[in-house]
Amino acid sequence: MDMNNLDFWGRSPQELADLMKARFKQPAFRGRQLAEWLYKRGAASFADMTNLPQGLREALREAAGMTFALPVVVANLVSNDRQTEKALLQLADGAEIETVLMRQSYGNSVCVSSQVGCAMGCAFCASTKGGCQRNLSRGEMLRQVFHFHKEHAPVSRVVIMGSGEPMLNYDEVLAFIRLLHDPGVIGMSYRHITLSTCGLVDGIDRLAAEGVPINLAISLHASDDETRSKLMPVNLRHPISQVLAAAKRYADKTGRRVTYEYTMIEGINSSLQQADALAGLMAGHLSHVNLIPVNPIREKGFYPPTAAAVRSFAEALEKKGIPVSVRKTMGDDIAAACGQLRAQRLDTAARH
Ligand code: SF4
Repeated sequence: MDMNNLDFWGRSPQELADLMKARFKQPAFRGRQLAEWLYKRGAASFADMTNLPQGLREALREAAGMTFALPVVVANLVSNDRQTEKALLQLADGAEIETVLMRQSYGNSVCVSSQVGCAMGCAFCASTKGGCQRNLSRGEMLRQVFHFHKEHAPVSRVVIMGSGEPMLNYDEVLAFIRLLHDPGVIGMSYRHITLSTCGLVDGIDRLAAEGVPINLAISLHASDDETRSKLMPVNLRHPISQVLAAAKRYADKTGRRVTYEYTMIEGINSSLQQADALAGLMAGHLSHVNLIPVNPIREKGFYPPTAAAVRSFAEALEKKGIPVSVRKTMGDDIAAACGQLRAQRLDTAARH
């Protein structure tokens, strides 16, 4: 693909209006019409954009080249219960990313990747196999949402919780969040957007100051530094006390409750003593704990605790007044956990 092609996606209606004036010598309203075709009317080609003059449609098609047709859908898997759909999407440079749609009683959520792969090295995560290839652009993140967002089945929530550490791609992720919120794009409430980080303190503080009151989720996964450092190398840089302090500042500034993700691994972080220690950490925080029984990883010896053990862990938190939920395992049959499908393809490629 010619990298000089102009990608119209990932631009706000205002930016498209400016571009229309500067590059195509057209009135600004043509840019807003283009935005409407892209974001509201699901145009499949420039030929569909019937209220734009024929000559302009041709000029736009030439300027965009192949970018308009991207990303290429490599695979789209639907779980047996049809509640979860996972797309493996190929970008202009051949990189592959995963995006997951979850149909829930309160609406459709999409889990978006922010990088190709991830450099953070969490022990339980398939996305980090092969490290981080590159950051995704705002347009590449937006197109993950639009892969599933349809007029008759709108996406009402976005979680930036797929592959990648969003704080390491801060500017593009923030621009993507603002685009989601733009009424000319989707008009999604900030309260329906969640960013998940492994706990990069500077990023959390920066986000708190932006005036975009989105939900913050922290990957915690342990209640003591020794265990967390074994599971998440980032803990050596930002130990639990620092992460919790930053999360508390975020909650104080935005008024938003912070969610703590806690992947439960039998024999590592799932004992009742660890539940008590976790309750101690959460005391006084505007928080919510989300327990996630790990998807089995045979080569690491990681297995989920029994359902009864997960329940007891949750009850121990509840008894101390800590709000807690247990994540339903969605889409096990289509490898819906973060990065699994892409990792399987990397493994296959490595074997060839
Ligand atoms: S859990 Fe998140 S931060 Fe950790 S390796 Fe996976 S994608 Fe990266």
